[in-house]
Amino acid sequence: MAAFFIFQKDVNIVFMLFDTHCHLNFDDFNSNRDEIINRCLSNDIYIINVGADYETSKKAVEIAGKYEKGVYSSVALHPHNVDKEKFDYKKFKELAKNSKVVAIGECGLDYAFCENDEKTQKLQQKVFVEHLKLAKELNKPVIIHSRRLFPEILKLLHDTGYMLRGVLHCYMGRWSYAEEYLKMGFYISFTGLITYARDYDKVIKNTPLERILIETDAPYLTPEPIRKPENSPRNEPQYVEYVARKIAEIKEIPFDQVASQTTQNAKELFNLV
Ligand SMILES: [Zn+2]
Repeated sequence: MAAFFIFQKDVNIVFMLFDTHCHLNFDDFNSNRDEIINRCLSNDIYIINVGADYETSKKAVEIAGKYEKGVYSSVALHPHNVDKEKFDYKKFKELAKNSKVVAIGECGLDYAFCENDEKTQKLQQKVFVEHLKLAKELNKPVIIHSRRLFPEILKLLHDTGYMLRGVLHCYMGRWSYAEEYLKMGFYISFTGLITYARDYDKVIKNTPLERILIETDAPYLTPEPIRKPENSPRNEPQYVEYVARKIAEIKEIPFDQVASQTTQNAKELFNLV
């Protein structure tokens, strides 16, 4: 499928893509993880595997260690997991010191499964602030997960006064919130969701290309045209190309420009230049 576009590279259209957020560290990829990564690298697609708890963070670091370049990791306890595992600052810090750990995340707030549970909400806030502290201590950017709670996250970021760099992953908010985060120097990242939901076109149009990152969030959020409404096939980093193509279409600019600028943005944010 994506091979059609990748094939174009052979006729001298050279581009690189950077999937800044995927989960090849998850068990979903146990059967052919290395094959997928090697395919990405031979097609000039770089990736960051993002941890969601201690085990998947450790796994992300291990995977990154197997490849000389192009495969990186990020470590954190996802807000959904704060009541399943205690956030062990010291253990995460040891892991995050690894040079292949380019960010702290995904961390943030998501009350989808604890709407009426103030205790878990408070715990999420506490754990998120611990992640911000870790990012500050190790001078690494943050990858933020937010479901609707943009003002709450903004407040916690301001309250710490840390002046962190970072990205709002899988952005699903309105333009006015994006604008606030852009003012703070944050990047906005888009997934395959933008290939079929039109709710974010305004945000994409208004956000300067220099502040946009692309990602798949694989195995989730498979983009059009790979996606099937029922029983969608597993997402993979190579499909990040469809996200870049949709941004090019919405912004009415060449695909190559989106590919090269978003790659440069990722290298800048994650200190890979
Ligand atoms: Zn994710």
